[in-house]
Amino acid sequence: SSVQALPHERLIGWRISAPSGHAFDGSFPAPHHGIAIQRSVLDALLLNEAKTAGAEVRCGERVGDLLWSHGSVRGVRLGAGRAAEEINARLVVGADGLRSVVVRRLGHLRRAPRLKKLALTAHMSGPVDPRERGELHILANGCIGAAGVGDGLTNVTVVVNAESVGSAIAGARDAYFDALVARHDRFGGWQREDEVLATGPFDWPVHSAVSDGAMLVGDAAGYFDPFTGQGVYRALKGAALAAEHAHRALEQGSTSARALAGYDRAHRSAFNPGARLQRAIEAVVSREVLIEIASRGLGFAPSLADALVAVTADLRPVRSLLDPRLLGRLKSNGRH
Ligand SMILES: Cc1cc2nc3c(=O)[nH]c(=O)nc-3n(C[C@H](O)[C@H](O)[C@H](O)COP(=O)(O)OP(=O)(O)OC[C@H]3O[C@@H](n4cnc5c(N)ncnc54)[C@H](O)[C@@H]3O)c2cc1C
Repeated sequence: SSVQALPHERLIGWRISAPSGHAFDGSFPAPHHGIAIQRSVLDALLLNEAKTAGAEVRCGERVGDLLWSHGSVRGVRLGAGRAAEEINARLVVGADGLRSVVVRRLGHLRRAPRLKKLALTAHMSGPVDPRERGELHILANGCIGAAGVGDGLTNVTVVVNAESVGSAIAGARDAYFDALVARHDRFGGWQREDEVLATGPFDWPVHSAVSDGAMLVGDAAGYFDPFTGQGVYRALKGAALAAEHAHRALEQGSTSARALAGYDRAHRSAFNPGARLQRAIEAVVSREVLIEIASRGLGFAPSLADALVAVTADLRPVRSLLDPRLLGRLKSNGRH
């Protein structure tokens, strides 16, 4: 309810269009709806909740390194050089995002990214805001996502293959973003309201979400691709799982990797099926022929489109896509 009290847009589902312009809709299962909200607004609320719960919040500090004792993490070092400050802790939780220092210092990075996507994002305003449905416009070499986030602003994100467009973007990301968005029929007459932020790649898998004296949460514990979003849910749900296991380990007096192993298992079982589906979706959307076939198929099979949207919104488990009742509904879609 505190999130709903903030400026946001309510989403009932997604409209997804293929490069040809052919589009289909997928809706969230009633009574659920999505919330599209500015990160600055959501993050301020989360920070405040943490403070209220007793956390000491220190903004503008950067963890530069981990502290070790007999092969186990025993804290973090803030900053570097003379200004460095050491903080001891029985357990360090690395929730420091895609380029996590904690992951790198633990040596938990499994490999360099294979999927090299780059996201450019900005707030825009336009003659017709997306209302009620987020929009995903798939292009031959990437996609444009758009969702109203309240206050008359729409978050517009362009995701492209970094390897094929990297040099075109270098030093000119605002111009690249503006040109790509302006070329799309949907965004004619739209205006960018702030600077373009760039991030990526996103494919940073880790060996494990735990180590002696440390846990990983959110993007630090592995993300893949922003196409289906899901990262905020994974971060919040992962944090809830981590809190449960951290509490138990601290109460039992051991934060060894063995004592924290239950978190790693719970994390895998909560998120690995979704990550596999993300890979399957990427295999389709990265091939123009397949996305055209899929968009036409899903246009004729609204039950399947809704089921996919429910799964990628984390409202239904991935296995629900194999539910025989869905097959039954698909047959009746085919008859109409
Ligand atoms: C373009 C784009 C669109 C997306 N769209 C969606 C969407 O629609 N829905 C969705 O659910 N997800 C979406 N995601 C993913 C989502 O943003 C992330 O998965 C989510 O923010 C992960 O949360 P996090 O807390 O793990 O990491 P972050 O939100 O990245 O937070 C990490 C924090 O750690 C801080 N930090 C980093 N390094 C250090 C350090 N060394 N010391 C101290 N602090 C540090 C950072 O400043 C930051 O505050 C999108 C991502 C991108 C890039």
